[in-house]
Amino acid sequence: MTTKTSEQLARDRHYAIQRIRDSVPLPARVGDLYDGNGRLRTEFMEHGPAERAIQKLHRRAGEAVPNQDALPVGIQQALHLPLIWVQIVSRYPWKVMWVRHDSTGRVRRGELKCTTLGGAIYEWRRIRKLAPNATIVSRARGYHIPPELRGELPPRWYWCPHCMKPRRYQRDPDNRTFTTNKKVWSDTKGRFVWVERKVYILVCPMCHNNSRDPIFRMSNQPWETRRFKQGVRRAKPRQRTRRKRGKS
Ligand SMILES: [Zn+2]
Repeated sequence: MTTKTSEQLARDRHYAIQRIRDSVPLPARVGDLYDGNGRLRTEFMEHGPAERAIQKLHRRAGEAVPNQDALPVGIQQALHLPLIWVQIVSRYPWKVMWVRHDSTGRVRRGELKCTTLGGAIYEWRRIRKLAPNATIVSRARGYHIPPELRGELPPRWYWCPHCMKPRRYQRDPDNRTFTTNKKVWSDTKGRFVWVERKVYILVCPMCHNNSRDPIFRMSNQPWETRRFKQGVRRAKPRQRTRRKRGKS
């Protein structure tokens, strides 16, 4: 008789628990996996069949989108990236937002929540005819700037991680500021350096994402390209930090 190691026992226990979790039957509709607040029900968390059903729903909706080459690069990028956990647990990870002036001239904001990006693209193409500024917004997560747009935005335009497109951000109406590290060009050093600066908070006029967002900060720093000779496997640090010895 062979005795199992504690590692094997732990693995058996893990699989037994997973089998129990997976045995919760799937509802007839994907929407019923979520509760009234649009969050994934706890019995379907870490539930293999439920996760596969959600992934399949999103993949199918994405594949069904016609004319994908005509979509903005940010949307194309999102269509090609896999779902991440915060999107899986949300009933509506997407929405379409728009702003229009009604017949009395008052500003009306509208939004429509969507389950899949494919569905959001369909609604966006429809709504855009009535409200040309209609935009698809990622509610669950922000996206980084696509490589082809890095360093290509005109002055005062910023990449909005949630609208997934370049935007003219506006200064926070209360003129709030925050302190952050900014990458700025140094003439004396001949390279970019990180400097602590107090800056105004900037806000996206459509989705209200603000410039404190880490994905905004990463996407909107000056981008540099480094060229490497063939065969170079590892980037050397750009500058050597020389520590002064003795008294200075
Ligand atoms: Zn935005």
